[in-house]
Amino acid sequence: MLLDADIKAQLSQYLQLMEGDVLLKVSAGTDSVSREMLLLVDELASMSSNIKVEKTELERTPSFSVNRIGEDTGVTFAGIPLGHEFTSLVLALLQVSGRAPKVEQKVIDQIKAIKGEYHFESYISLSCHNCPDVVQALNLMSILNPGISHTMIDGAAFKDEVESKNILAVPTVFLNGESFGSGRMTIEEILTKMGSGTDASELSDKEPFDVLVVGGGPAGASAAIYAARKGIRTGIVAERFGGQVMDTMGIENFISMKYTEGPKLVASLEEHVKEYGVDVMNLQRANRLEKKEFIELELENGAVLKSKTVILSTGARWRNVGVPGEAEFKNKGVAYCPHCDGPLFSGKHVAVIGGGNSGVEAAIDLAGIVKHVTVLEFMPELKADAVLQDRLNSLPNVTVLKNVQTKEITGTDKVNGISYIDRQTEEVHHIELQGVFVQIGLVPNTDWLGDTLERTRFGEIIVDKHGATNIPGVFAAGDCTDSAYKQIIISMGSGATAALGAFDYLIRN
Ligand SMILES: Cc1cc2nc3c(=O)[nH]c(=O)nc-3n(C[C@H](O)[C@H](O)[C@H](O)COP(=O)(O)OP(=O)(O)OC[C@H]3O[C@@H](n4cnc5c(N)ncnc54)[C@H](O)[C@@H]3O)c2cc1C
Repeated sequence: MLLDADIKAQLSQYLQLMEGDVLLKVSAGTDSVSREMLLLVDELASMSSNIKVEKTELERTPSFSVNRIGEDTGVTFAGIPLGHEFTSLVLALLQVSGRAPKVEQKVIDQIKAIKGEYHFESYISLSCHNCPDVVQALNLMSILNPGISHTMIDGAAFKDEVESKNILAVPTVFLNGESFGSGRMTIEEILTKMGSGTDASELSDKEPFDVLVVGGGPAGASAAIYAARKGIRTGIVAERFGGQVMDTMGIENFISMKYTEGPKLVASLEEHVKEYGVDVMNLQRANRLEKKEFIELELENGAVLKSKTVILSTGARWRNVGVPGEAEFKNKGVAYCPHCDGPLFSGKHVAVIGGGNSGVEAAIDLAGIVKHVTVLEFMPELKADAVLQDRLNSLPNVTVLKNVQTKEITGTDKVNGISYIDRQTEEVHHIELQGVFVQIGLVPNTDWLGDTLERTRFGEIIVDKHGATNIPGVFAAGDCTDSAYKQIIISMGSGATAALGAFDYLIRN
C-alpha cells in the first residue's frame, strides 16, 4: 500500500465526485519508481470503478497519462505525483471525468479559443509549494483544448534531463522544447505569456472610472476596497495582483493573524476586492500617465484607460546583489526583510550585505534574535548614521567586514555560507552561515512615470498626509511613496488614506 489510511479516506470521498470514466495509460519498466507508480495506479483503480488502466509506452518511463475513454487529453505525469502534487493528480482525475473546474468562464473561453499545437513540460519537485499551481493550470489547459498537452516531470525521477537542461529552480516550464518560464505562474499569467490575454480594444472601450488604482499589492487592494465602498466606479490595473506578498512565505506581523502565508493573504485580498465589484484588470502594465480632461493611463498593450482620479500603488522591489546563489536560495536562506524573516533564523549565524542605514538597522535588529551577525560592506567605511554605527559596534555578537565584495552565496538545498573578496588583498574568504539578508535598498516601481510627478532622489513618489501628489487628482500609497517604513499593514493604511483622499477630491471637484 502506497497511500496511508487517512489519505485513502479523503481520496475516496473525492473520487465519488467523478462524473465519468477515465483511462490511465501507464508506461512502466522494472525499476523501483515504476513499481511504486504501478502500486499507486492500481490503488486508484481499486478505489473507483470509473478508473480504468491500460499498459502502453509513453515518451518517458515511468509515467502515466489521464484520458477520457477514446480520447487522449494530453495530461501526463512523469514520476509519481505524490507530495504537493497529489492534489494535482486528484484534480486531473475529476476534471478529465467531466467535473467542471473552478475557474471563471472568461478564462475557460480564452483557453478553448487558442489555436495551434502547444506541448508544455513542467519540471517540478514534490516538495515545492509553487509547483502545483503551475501543474494544475497547464493540466486544465490540456483538458480544455485538444491542441494543448502537458507533462509534469518530477526532477528527482528524471535527474539526467534536469542536469542536461541545466534546471536550477522549480517549477521550470518548457513550451514546444523552448524555455517558457519559471516560478509560480497563474493560469492568467500563462495565457498572457501565450498572447491570449485580454485585448487592448476591450480595455480602451471601458467607460471612465471615478477611481483607477494602479498596482494590486496590499496598498492597491486596500485603496480599491475603500473607494468601491463609497459606491463609485473603481478599477485596478495590476501587472501581478498580490505584489510582493505573492513572494512571501510566512507572515507573522499582519496584525490579527498570528501566522499567514503570502499567497493565502493575496487570495483573501482578491476575494475582498471582487466582493465590491471592482473591475480588476490583472496582468496589465502601466506605461504612461497624463492629465487631460480625464487622467489617462496608457498600458503596455496600447490600451488607454480614463479616470477622474488615479491612485498609484506600484510598490517596490528589493535591489538584488546579483551574485551566484542569490536567486537559487531565495526563501531558502536568502532573505530581504529582517522584520519578517529574522525570527526564522533564531540561534543561527547570518550575514547582512550592505552597511547603509537599512543594513545596519537590520544587523542591530537581527543581533537581538540570532546567534551572530556578519555585516559585509563594499566601501572602506559604513555609510549608516553615526548613532546606528555606535549601537552596532556596542553589540557583542556582530562582526563588521569593510571593503569586501560579496562573491557567492553557497549552499546545497539551502544556504550554508557566503564567499567574499577582501578588496585590499584580493583574497577570497568563506564564512559558514545559515542566512543572508540583502540590504542594499528598495527600488520603487516608478521609473515609468518619468518626470510627470514629484519624486524623491530615490524615485519615491512624494505624498502629503491625504496621499495626494503634486498633480491634482493623482494620489499614491504604499511602498512606491516616501512613506517611512515599508510593510504590508502600513501600505494598507496608506491605501485607505489615498482612497479617502481621492473621494474627498471627487466631492469637491
Ligand atoms: C520576500 C518579502 C517578504 C516580506 N515579508 C513581509 C512581512 O512578513 N510582513 C510585512 O509587513 N511586509 C513584508 N514584506 C514587505 C511587504 O510585502 C510590502 O511592504 C508590501 O507588499 C507593499 O505593498 P504595496 O501594495 O505598496 O506594493 P507591492 O506589494 O510591491 O505591489 C505593487 C503592485 O503594483 C504592480 N505594479 C508595479 N508596477 C506596475 C506597473 N507599471 N503597472 C501596473 N502594475 C504595476 C505590481 O504588479 C503589484 O501588483 C516583504 C517583502 C518581501 C519582498
